Amino acid sequence: MTLESINPYEVAVAQFDEAADRLGLSQSMRTVLRKPKRELTVNFPVRMDNGDVQTFTGYRVQHNITRGPAKGGIRFSPQVSLDEVRALAMWMTWKCAVVGIPFGGAKGGVICDPRKLSRNELERLTRRYATEISVLIGPNSDIPAPDVNTNPQVMAWIMDTYSMHQGYSVPAVVTGKPLAIGGSEGRLEATARGVQIITREAVKHMDMIPERSKVVIQGFGNAGGIAARLLHEEGYKIVGLSDSGAGVYNPKGIDVPAAMRYSREHGSLRDLPDTQAVTNQELLQLPCHILIPAAIENQITKENAAGVQARLIIEAANGPITPEADQILHDKGAMIVPDILANAGGVTVSYFEWVQDQQDFFWAEQEINQKLEAIMTRAFAAVYNKAIEQSSTLRMAAYLLAVARVAEATELRGIYP
Ligand code: NAD
Repeated sequence: MTLESINPYEVAVAQFDEAADRLGLSQSMRTVLRKPKRELTVNFPVRMDNGDVQTFTGYRVQHNITRGPAKGGIRFSPQVSLDEVRALAMWMTWKCAVVGIPFGGAKGGVICDPRKLSRNELERLTRRYATEISVLIGPNSDIPAPDVNTNPQVMAWIMDTYSMHQGYSVPAVVTGKPLAIGGSEGRLEATARGVQIITREAVKHMDMIPERSKVVIQGFGNAGGIAARLLHEEGYKIVGLSDSGAGVYNPKGIDVPAAMRYSREHGSLRDLPDTQAVTNQELLQLPCHILIPAAIENQITKENAAGVQARLIIEAANGPITPEADQILHDKGAMIVPDILANAGGVTVSYFEWVQDQQDFFWAEQEINQKLEAIMTRAFAAVYNKAIEQSSTLRMAAYLLAVARVAEATELRGIYP
């Protein structure tokens, strides 16, 4: 199978099916949970700066809303497809269930290359897409957040567009907003802070010591870049980093704050001083103890899994390891903390942001971080204990917990009418 032909939705369904088998779910329950509840495809025009009109395609998929409003990020990328958005929506359902927050799963995306759009074009595209999906989104129905190539500014435009339609401000319609318009302290760092907490918990079980642990991180954005900073501050030696344009390596350790400054100034990690260049493929196979894929899906495949040297892999990205690669890594004795647990810090603080917006009462950063820590360590312990009890991988244990919670809610609510 080539990288391009790995369909993330098929991967997500296969993972669900395995959990459903182990849980002995009925056929009817499986058919309900296997498919997204709602899928919206929108084609919409955007006026470009040169006066031309270009048509873009976007999606919003709600996989399941049994446990609460749909929740999930919006991604802007040329690789976006309906199946990718379906998979990401399904993973959101399990993620919210595994950390026990009262949301269902959704995801959105627009096929575009934001690097080729001016700021004004990006704003017009965002506002028109927000309008197109406004039949689904709302503070009680479906709440978007940032994902690949979207950020607090994009969330601000979505919040403003939705609010203009309503005639009053509705901050709770999106999370990951800037602080000035109802965002939450700690949200920007939340995904990475969750990764940091999960890494700390996993390291305890692996008899590793942060100061002696070498870490490689793929992806240097919201998840990967901030995780690099937080882990560096905690004493880990970050030896490899990459973004979509370049990979860099220094076996003695990279000065992460300097790398962040460099990346901001140059738009990439390319030619970062005191490092040697590596390709993204080489990066994944560098000598290290901990590997954190934090870019996009399908990065570790059956083609490169055998060469991965890390004993501990923390999936900060969604779906970075294909099922075949998962098996190869497992057989090699690596411990993999699955995406639906490892990167759940983002949606957890999004939940805090939504609660604060609904009650118009805001919490201090320390309080946010304490609550995040409590939820992430509790979820890690539950998944770890389940894996021991079931003699399963952490991924299967997380699925068993999450799918059972969603199935229970579905059973209790019954079928309407
Ligand atoms: P981002 O846009 O902030 O950063 C993405 C990073 O990955 C960038 O450094 C980019 O250059 C790099 N990248 C993109 N394509 C690459 C490739 N082919 N090879 C190597 N690097 C590549 O996005 P993000 O929000 O950090 O999201 C990264 C991953 O984390 C995604 O899988 C996303 O779904 C997941 N995630 C994000 C959040 C969040 O709150 N932002 C929450 C949970 C999960």
